[in-house]
Amino acid sequence: MSFVRLIGAEARLIARRSYSSSAPTTKLFIDGKFVESKTNDWIDVKDPATDKVVTRVPKATPEEMKTALESNKRAFKSWSNTSVVSRQQVMFKLQALIKANMGELAKNITKEQGKTLVDAEGDVLRGLQVVEHCCSIPSLQMGETVANVARDMDTYSLVMPLGVTAGIAPFNFPAMIPLWMFPVAITTGNTMLLKPSERVPGATMLLMELLNEAGCPPGVVNVIHGQHDAVNFICDAPEIKAVSFVGSDTAGKYIYERAGRNGKRVQSNMGAKNHGVVLSDANKENTLNQLAGAAFGAAGQRCMALSTAVFVGEAQKWIPDLVERAKKLKVNAGHVPGTDVGPVISDASRKRINDLIESGVKEGAKLILDGRKITVPGYENGYFVGPTILTDVKPNMKCYTEEIFGPVLVILNADTLDEAISIVNANPYGNGTAVFTTNGAAARKFVNEIDAGQVGVNVPIPVPLPMFSFTGTRGSFRGDHHFYGKQGIKFYTQTKTVTQLWRETDVNHTQAAVAMPT
Ligand code: NAD
Repeated sequence: MSFVRLIGAEARLIARRSYSSSAPTTKLFIDGKFVESKTNDWIDVKDPATDKVVTRVPKATPEEMKTALESNKRAFKSWSNTSVVSRQQVMFKLQALIKANMGELAKNITKEQGKTLVDAEGDVLRGLQVVEHCCSIPSLQMGETVANVARDMDTYSLVMPLGVTAGIAPFNFPAMIPLWMFPVAITTGNTMLLKPSERVPGATMLLMELLNEAGCPPGVVNVIHGQHDAVNFICDAPEIKAVSFVGSDTAGKYIYERAGRNGKRVQSNMGAKNHGVVLSDANKENTLNQLAGAAFGAAGQRCMALSTAVFVGEAQKWIPDLVERAKKLKVNAGHVPGTDVGPVISDASRKRINDLIESGVKEGAKLILDGRKITVPGYENGYFVGPTILTDVKPNMKCYTEEIFGPVLVILNADTLDEAISIVNANPYGNGTAVFTTNGAAARKFVNEIDAGQVGVNVPIPVPLPMFSFTGTRGSFRGDHHFYGKQGIKFYTQTKTVTQLWRETDVNHTQAAVAMPT
């Protein structure tokens, strides 16, 4: 196994213990070591395709969380003084190790999260791109200088780390989202206490093995597991200066408020309802394929999934063709070659999705493709929902007002582009949106007038690469600085502005200068 060959002797042993079926517990990662928790409280992680337990995740005890935080505090003293090029070197090595172990990481993601192997590789790749961006840290973390702000006086700014930071991640991107967090936090000189989703801890643990192998010192990143108690610990610990969160609205608002009340910086990426607006002058084939991929790919469990389509005018005639494309998608276990749509994360999630579909029907929407009763031969216990399409949806229906987070596309109609724009702008979320058109003026109008943070023009899922930032807005985000890119660097750093006077012959002031210097 390529993964095991690349890691050190100790981690190799742990990898075998952690991920063999005979001892399915997930460890904590504290001070560079994988540690068995002493808790009595465990959470089962089940393979969504089979309903079988893959691993058991501990709810870390208060002592374990304190130990982890102490380790982060200790490590900060030396790590923040490590040269920027040493931190860059760790990223270069991590980058190579992630690439070499892409397959292993993807397999783990498919097993715990359910998405297809190809999609799981994409999950790793989009996180890897953040690591690659962090390799430029010496130039990303540069301050500014103005010489001669007064006679013999210069002012310059230093971009300094904050201290111990924390990351709280969701289930839907087990590799990408932890990789939005810890690489940026640590290359800027911070340490990080990371809490991956208790539903998909494996990718983070594999990344920690790689981080060890890349030469990152113990305590720079520690990993605790758990749910509310771990989140509260992070929000309340005075030593933690900043919290990065990605997940649902409920948790995101709670964390933003609780950690904010405790004086921490918080960036909170939350839910979404992304609209694809289809104009009748669009390239039909391309648009319908893009729409089907973006609505049903990853079983709709992407925060940038196009879960809502607004067909404008004559484009409404294309809806039956969209249904035909959706019907062709193969629903199966994520590791089966050729699968397009894997299971959703849990049985509870499947029930929630099915209930929201039913609510749409009861409120008057038309269910023109129903994926609720699907069975997958060989995986009868899996949590599958097939591609589902509801048309004639109105903005007051529950299937529209709530994030479904499943392979369900809700379709609204509009007579004009203006009407479509008002529908999108009236929705409380602002993560992403897309317009499909061949008319440059219409596209330009859409880009200018639409109130969403990430806009695609003939691009269905416009997630920016890390030279930009992930800029969801309105109900999808709370905070001041976004994840990764220049804003990510800003989030994890503070500015120290130095004004210095050096003069060959010292000035002899005859009395104290009490007036404001000008
Ligand atoms: P979630 O909120 O249930 O879990 C995220 C994290 O918060 C987990 O680590 C979990 O342990 C913790 N948590 C859960 N409930 C909590 C609560 N009540 N109080 C405090 N902490 C809590 O989210 P999820 O179901 O894992 O992820 C799916 C959600 O994440 C969707 O809403 C999706 O849109 C959103 N998401 C947003 C983005 C984005 O960038 N905007 C990206 C990915 C996912």
